[in-house]
Amino acid sequence: MKRIAVLGSTGSIGLNTLDVISRLKSSFDIIGLSADSNIKLLSRQARHFQPKIVSVGSGALIKQIKHALPSRTKIVSGVDGLRAIISRGDVDLVVFAISGSSCLIPLIDAIKNKKRIALANKESLVSAGSIIMSEAKKNKVQIIPIDSEHSAIFQCLDGKRSFLSKVYLTGSGGPLLNINEYKFDNLSRNFVLSHPKWKMGKKISVDSATMMNKGLEMIEAKYLFDIGEDAIEVLIHPEAIIHSMVELVDGTIFAQLGIPDMRIPIQYALTYPDRSRNTAKRIDFSKIRALSFLKPDFKKFPCLELARQASSAGGTAPGVLCAADEEAVKGYLDGKIRFSDISKIIAKVLRRHRNIMNGKNPTIDDIIEAEEWAKDETRAICQH
Ligand code: NDP
Ligand code: MG
Repeated sequence: MKRIAVLGSTGSIGLNTLDVISRLKSSFDIIGLSADSNIKLLSRQARHFQPKIVSVGSGALIKQIKHALPSRTKIVSGVDGLRAIISRGDVDLVVFAISGSSCLIPLIDAIKNKKRIALANKESLVSAGSIIMSEAKKNKVQIIPIDSEHSAIFQCLDGKRSFLSKVYLTGSGGPLLNINEYKFDNLSRNFVLSHPKWKMGKKISVDSATMMNKGLEMIEAKYLFDIGEDAIEVLIHPEAIIHSMVELVDGTIFAQLGIPDMRIPIQYALTYPDRSRNTAKRIDFSKIRALSFLKPDFKKFPCLELARQASSAGGTAPGVLCAADEEAVKGYLDGKIRFSDISKIIAKVLRRHRNIMNGKNPTIDDIIEAEEWAKDETRAICQH
């Protein structure tokens, strides 16, 4: 029986994780759950799974949720609340399904506490990948990726790491792949949010439309698998059947295939290194007929290029990229800026950023400070 905490249980990945756990309930005991503000759903989940502890986004919400929780469930809040969950002795495995940069400190804590990590959150790896991976190495903690591309690479590399020559990071191309860029600002937000292949939270759905998601994933792969940017090629694969590929030194290519359903990589991260049966649909190759591939269009999707530049600048630039993106996406979702402004604003913030850590590894405090600066800067630009 694995004792598990699901941080961000009310989101898209969180809900899929609880669905997987419900099907494998004899193998898992849920100790902790967390949400930011959706206390209605969190309390429903708590009554169903009877966790020992739940965390909410702020202290003010504790009063509101208290009466709706099982009497034995402890309530905590904020980043300290998340830290309280992951430091418990009765938690073996932590699923990081929180969106954005807020789970960086709890993630590092969980690694220091030698918990097994199932990681969906990509922003923390982008901002502080080298710190996270070196802590994981030092503490002999394995990070099992949930992001479908990284789960694919992880599985393809099993036992072959020393022969790796290149990674093909695939992406469906998002909802705007076949839309002329001059029409981007006339599209409704609903259209931008409706991904053709995956059902996800709002932030990552906008990131998929701008293709920033693929840019962040490139940086995520660089740190997770310790490979240079030059060895990662982004490949558009609209059918979303291949979830990524690795090429070995002798030219042999391994790919991981499956239907686009996040419950498959989530289940693998939970049961690793074992596998369990599930009810996910199977591929019918006769219906797919063809698998196609194209090069990404860096001009049409400038966020890809911004991510590449931030990645090679290193230091605090990837954190600034991430933070500016988070705020710009919020600005877009709140109707303050147009779709095409997202990449322009991120580029402006990156230009203004003084990457004093260039060439060196920043500390967590440097990263958090740079991210706070980038968020303030982006918010100010979005107001104008
Ligand atoms: P959602 O927006 O659907 O859910 C986010 C979850 O995190 C919710 O439970 C939310 O609580 C909680 N949360 C948000 N902000 C905070 C905060 N400041 N403090 C504490 N909790 C917070 O996101 P997704 O599930 O789509 O994505 C989660 C992460 O996984 C992201 O990093 C994303 O990039 C990554 N990912 C997602 C994929 C997907 O298919 N969705 C695929 C691959 C990676 P509340 O509900 O109360 O707001
Ligand atoms: Mg992905």
